[in-house]
Formats: sequence, C-alpha cells, structure tokens
Amino acid sequence: MEKDRMISELVLLVGSENVLSSAMHFKLYEYDASLIRSQPDCIVLPTSTEQVSKVVKFAHDNKIYVIARGAGTNLSGGSVPIRGGIAIVMTRMNQILEMDIENQRVIVQPGVVTLDLKNLLAKHGYLYQPDPASEKVTTIGGNFGENAGGPHCLKYGVTSNHVLGAEVVLSDGQVVQMGSKALDNPGYDLLGVLGASEGTLAIVTKAILRIMPKAEAVKTMLCIYNSIEDGGNTVTAIIGEGIIPATLEMMDNLTIKAVEEAYHVGFPTDAAAILIIELDGLKDGMERLTERILAICREHNVREIRVAKDQAERDMIWAGRKGAFGAVGRLRPNYLVNDGTVPRTRLPETLAKVVEIGKKYKLPIANVFHAGDGNLHPLILFDERDKDELERVHAAATEIMKLCAEMGGTISGEHGIGLEKLHGMSLIFSPKDIAAMKKVKEAFDPLNLLNPGKLLPETEKAA
Ligand SMILES: Cc1cc2nc3c(=O)[nH]c(=O)nc-3n(C[C@H](O)[C@H](O)[C@H](O)COP(=O)(O)OP(=O)(O)OC[C@H]3O[C@@H](n4cnc5c(N)ncnc54)[C@H](O)[C@@H]3O)c2cc1C
Repeated sequence: MEKDRMISELVLLVGSENVLSSAMHFKLYEYDASLIRSQPDCIVLPTSTEQVSKVVKFAHDNKIYVIARGAGTNLSGGSVPIRGGIAIVMTRMNQILEMDIENQRVIVQPGVVTLDLKNLLAKHGYLYQPDPASEKVTTIGGNFGENAGGPHCLKYGVTSNHVLGAEVVLSDGQVVQMGSKALDNPGYDLLGVLGASEGTLAIVTKAILRIMPKAEAVKTMLCIYNSIEDGGNTVTAIIGEGIIPATLEMMDNLTIKAVEEAYHVGFPTDAAAILIIELDGLKDGMERLTERILAICREHNVREIRVAKDQAERDMIWAGRKGAFGAVGRLRPNYLVNDGTVPRTRLPETLAKVVEIGKKYKLPIANVFHAGDGNLHPLILFDERDKDELERVHAAATEIMKLCAEMGGTISGEHGIGLEKLHGMSLIFSPKDIAAMKKVKEAFDPLNLLNPGKLLPETEKAA
C-alpha cells in the first residue's frame, strides 16, 4: 500500500494523536541499541488492546509488516524495522492494571517500565525479581520479548519464569489469552513459546506477573582479585558447594576503571577483577553462609573483601555494576555487546580466549558479566566511522560466538538473536531444529508479517 494512504488509514483507526509520521520521527524510531538502522513507514502508539488489534488486523488485511517496540534498548536489532512497515510502540500502554498482593500476582500493560513496577512493589514489601541493568527504561513487553535476564536471575530465573499469563494480539488481529494467575495450566504451553520470541509470533497487550516478598536479610560483598582466573574459579567453587547466591557478577580491569571514572563508587582501579556476591533470604544462617563464602574467596586468592555495612553501601556497589555499560560507552564512540553463555567451569578459559581475540583484531574488549550464569558480555570498543575497524568488530564478534558454542555454551544468554546473531543460529541448531521452529512461526504468523527477518534465518545463506 502507498505510504501516505497507509498513514491516513491508521489515523482513521487510532486517531492522529497516536500516529507519528514526520521525517524526524522516522529517524527517531530507526534504531535500537544494536548497530542496525532502518526506518519504519509509520509509527503508531496505541493506548488500548482494541487499538493494537485494529492496527494488526489492518496490517494483516493489507499485507503490511508490523514491528512491536518497547523502549528500543535491545542489543540485537530486535525492534529495528528492517523491511519497513508499521512500528507499534507500546510505551503509552503503561498502566498497572491489578495489584493482587495477597496472591502475589500483578497484571500490567506491556509498556510499564520495569523499575517503575519494582519501585511501586517495594512500597508493599514485594519484589518483581528480573532486573536487567537497563531496568530504568525497559518495558515489561520488551523484557518478555527478549526473555531478559539480570544479576538476580541466577537465583530467581529469567523474565519468562515470572510471566504466568498474557493477553496477546495474534497476527490477524484476534485477541487471545494464554496462561493465567495459576502456576501451571493445562493444554499446550503457548506462553512458553512466546517468551523470547522477539515480537515474531504475537504482540503482548497484558501480562500477569509473579511477585515475591522482599527477603528478610541481604548481604552484599565486593571481592577484589589480582587475576580474573581466581575470580572465575571462586564462582565455580561457590556453586560447586551447592550454594546459590542471589548474584555472582564480575567485571574486568577495563570496566572497573571506566565505572570508577564515571561514578566514583570506590572500585579499585588496579584490580584485575571484582566479583559482586549478594546473598538474600532469612536472617537465620546468613552469617554462617557468609563466612563459608568468604573462606572460599580466600582459598582462591582474593586480595580484599568489602562487606557492605548498610543500604547506602549496597546501592553504591550496584550503581557501579548497573552503570557499567554506560560507563564503558564513554571510552570510545561505539561498542558492540556480545552475549554468549558457557558452562561456568569454562569461564576462565573462555575469558582468556576472548582476550586473545581482542589482540588478534587489535580491538579493546571490556568484560562485565553474569558469572554465576556463565553469561559473558565482552564489549568490543570501536568507532563505527572507521570501516576497517567495523569489519574487524564483526569478525571478532563472530569468533566470540563460535568460541562460546565450541565451549559447550550458546550464542545468547539474554539479549536475543534479532538480526545481529542470525548467522550464529547454525552454530547451535541443526537445519532440522530450525525447520521445527519455522513451523511454529508459520502457525502463528502464516503471512510472515510480524517482525520479519528476525530470530530465524529465512534462507540457508542467512544461517
Ligand atoms: C545499557 C544497557 C544495559 C542492558 N542490560 C541488560 C541486562 O542486564 N539484561 C538483559 O537481558 N538485557 C539487557 N539489555 C538489553 C535490553 O535492555 C533488553 O533486551 C530489554 O528487555 C529490551 O526491552 P525494551 O523495552 O527496550 O524492548 P525493545 O528493545 O523495544 O524490544 C525488544 C524485543 O521485544 C519485542 N517486543 C517489544 N514489546 C513487545 C510486545 N508488547 N509484545 C511482543 N513483542 C514485543 C520487540 O519486537 C523486540 O524484538 C541492556 C541494554 C542496554 C542498552
């Protein structure tokens, strides 16, 4: 359909106040936090499920692509409209619809900002556990779309473990319910299929989330090391003893220095690595567990341990960790975030190889990662205006992806496949595996209109 007509039809459907179509707006919605850019043909900001349904039905009837978008912070190209079409931006659907505290459930619209929900729940003594470092801006819909993780997901599980039900708009505009407030539901687990589907199967318009009471006690420790290997071995040893802390987060020297320069949180800039260990749970037994963990750290040559004395000191440590990506962003004009996962016993070995890859391609790489999950985030620093450097960045990222697969891990721990990691799918899936996933896509979206070209390689060449 001709673009101007499409825009006028959409204005009729949802009102001019909910449609954006100026050159400036196309520019604003052409990117996410990956390196990929492409403009939509029209931007719609619906305020209700009914509006989403109308827009999707219109797109279906006219064979127009539809790309759901939350805050646009994903790191793999997930919300970039690579073939144009309608960007449906969910940020105006940002209401918390029900707080069922007694049953430990909340029902939210997908545009609710993750931290806003957490702050509201904190007033009631409750927590929504998933905590991506980007939680200040990301939306619940985008978190489910990518199955976002975060430091506390080691103990509590990733986003899909906390989404129990959803209202969704299917590719033809029909509105259906999946799951419920219950923990288990009969029938096919359609909701399970939807988590991490990156807007390629349906659009979430409501989510039922599990919440938990805040822990009685929390202990946060900053462990400082002269070698990354010792930090990595500490992680393996803690988990090997059957202890699952709430978090086990690591940073290397380049990241520590960037964070310290940006936020002055007191991180030691001469350390090779720091490990943030947080315990939460009952007061009873916490001191004993802390002592055991500290002993394990000492067995692995920890240089210094700082135990946070109060909430202010805890907040300081977490401000450093959660601000790490932003701080590293100050070092060079661009960075590319890798997201492979390896068995945690192979962390030290993998990190050493990542350093080698950095040297081979003459690129600085900063590492900040969810060590407990074996989820690495090598941040490759570069300047995208330098075409030769850009090529080396892509080659290095592909090599890191291959490395993680060879180590018995996988190519994405939480940031999704999008477009950026499409060519890595064949490293972990056989053609038959991919064909089985394509059948799911065809069942949900037979016309291939929802976020086309993402997540599943459409051709053998793309894989
Ligand atoms: C500084 C920084 C730190 C980060 N830290 C983390 C981290 O710790 N852990 C982590 O997991 N990620 C992290 N990320 C990545 C990113 O924030 C997450 O992927 C997040 O979940 C994206 O949410 P969003 O609202 O920005 O969604 P978007 O980026 O807009 O969309 C993400 C995907 O979900 C789909 N989508 C959006 N809304 C819907 C909907 N309503 N229905 C169906 N599909 C939908 C989109 O089509 C897209 O494919 C970080 C990113 C940055 C820039």
